[in-house]
Amino acid sequence: MIRRAFRGGIHPPGNKHLTKDKPFSNLSIPQICYIPMQQHTGAPARVCVALGDNVGQGQMIGEADGLHSAHVHASIPGRVVEIARHPTIHARDAECVVIELQGSFSSSNRNDSPGWESRPKEEIVQKVIAAGLVGLGGEAFPTHVKLQPPHDKPVDTLIVNGCECEPYLTVDDMLMQSHAAHILMGTRMAMKALGVQRAVIGVEDDKPSAIAALRAALKETAPPEDIQVRPLRTRFPQGEEKQLIRGILKRTVPSGGLPVDAGVAVQNVGTVYAIYEAVMFDKPLFERYITVTGTCVKNPGNYKVRIGTRIADILEECGGLTGEPAKIIMGGPMCGITIDSMEVPVVKGTSGLLFLTQDEMVPDEYRACIRCGRCVAACPMGLLPHELGNAIERNRFDRAGAFRPFDCIMCGSCAYVCPARRPLNHFIRRAQDELRRVPPAQGED
Ligand code: SF4
Ligand code: SF4
Repeated sequence: MIRRAFRGGIHPPGNKHLTKDKPFSNLSIPQICYIPMQQHTGAPARVCVALGDNVGQGQMIGEADGLHSAHVHASIPGRVVEIARHPTIHARDAECVVIELQGSFSSSNRNDSPGWESRPKEEIVQKVIAAGLVGLGGEAFPTHVKLQPPHDKPVDTLIVNGCECEPYLTVDDMLMQSHAAHILMGTRMAMKALGVQRAVIGVEDDKPSAIAALRAALKETAPPEDIQVRPLRTRFPQGEEKQLIRGILKRTVPSGGLPVDAGVAVQNVGTVYAIYEAVMFDKPLFERYITVTGTCVKNPGNYKVRIGTRIADILEECGGLTGEPAKIIMGGPMCGITIDSMEVPVVKGTSGLLFLTQDEMVPDEYRACIRCGRCVAACPMGLLPHELGNAIERNRFDRAGAFRPFDCIMCGSCAYVCPARRPLNHFIRRAQDELRRVPPAQGED
C-alpha cells in the first residue's frame, strides 16, 4: 500500500493526456540559437568566444565562473554573429552568444567511454563539470556541486526524482519509459561519485509504465539490490526535494537546510540521464527533452530540442497554435515561470513549454482573506500562508519575517486552494525579495 507521504499538498487535475505516452521526436535544428550565459543557479558563465568565431557543436562558448557556475556549450555548429543582451527566462536582458547555423556536425564529442566503473570517482565529477551539467528538473543547480557534499555532511543515499508532479508535463515519464537502462547507469555513476551504496528512484503512482520499465531494466542489471524503484502517492508537490526525502526516507530537512543536511543527495531523472551521456560519450549539455503542451498547441508532444532555440521556432515546428494563448509558461503551471516573449530561448532547466488559453486562467482579481484555513491545510511546509499574505499586503515585512517566508518552496498549493484567489506565493516571493534586501531590525517581531 502506498501511504500518504507528507502533510498538506493538493491534487490538481493532471492534464497530462495531451502528451502522455507520446514518444520523443527530434525538432529540426534551428537556424539560429540564443545561448544565455546564465542558465543555472550561481554565477553566469564568462563568454570565451569572440564575434565572428566559427564554433563546433558542443564547443565551450562560456566558461564557468567559479565553483557555483557551469560551462555553456554551442548547441549548433556555426558562426558567432552577436554577443548581446537578449530576453531570457532569468532576465529581460541577459548576455547571450548568438550562433547562426553553418558548417557540419562533428561527432568528436561522442567518444564512447566504457569501463567507467573502474575509473576514479573524481573522473566522473570532472566529466560532469566539463559537460556543464545542471539540475534538469527546473532549479538548474550545478550538478558537480551536488555530487561533492562537504566532508562534515556525509551522504548515505541518492534519491532520483522521477515524480514529475507538475500538471501537463510528461517529459520525465517518457524518459523513464524509453531510457530506463541509461537512467539506471547514470544513477550508478552518480552513486559512485557520491560514494553511496544505496539509491531510490521515486516515481508517482500515476506513471505505471515508467515504474514497470525501470523495474524491468533493474532486473537485467547486476547487482539490482543497490537501486530501489519506489512508487509514491500522486500528490503535488511530491517532487519537491523536502517532500521526496520525507516520503522515501522519513527524514526531515531542517528549516533553512539542504538535503545534504539530512544525509541525502537528490537528482532528477533527466539529470542522471545527462550524467550517463556525459560520462559515456563526453557529451556536453547542448540539447534536452521537453514537453510542449496546451490545448491551443496544434501538435503537443515530447521533443528533443537544442538549447538556445527560441520559443517561436519551437512552436512553428509543433505546427503553431489553434488559438491565442493567454499565458505562456516555461515549466509547469504550479512552479513554472510566466514569460512574455516568444523570443525567449529554451535553457538547460526548461522541462516544458505550456500555452494556456483564457478559459484555463484564474482571474487576476482577488479578495480579502476570510480566514478559512484552507491554505494552512494545503501547505506542505507547515506555514501560515494567510498570515504571510496579510502581513505583506500591508507592507509589514517585519511581521512577515516571523512566519518563516524562507521556508516556502513556492509550490503554489496555498494559492490554488484559496477561495478568495489570493496570490499567496507571489506575496511570499515579494517578502523574500524585500527581506533579502533589508533584513528586519533586531527585536522587531
Ligand atoms: S485560503 Fe485564502 S481565504 Fe482562506 S485563510 Fe488562506 S488566504 Fe485566507
Ligand atoms: S506557503 Fe509556500 S510552501 Fe506553503 S503552500 Fe504556499 S507556496 Fe507552498
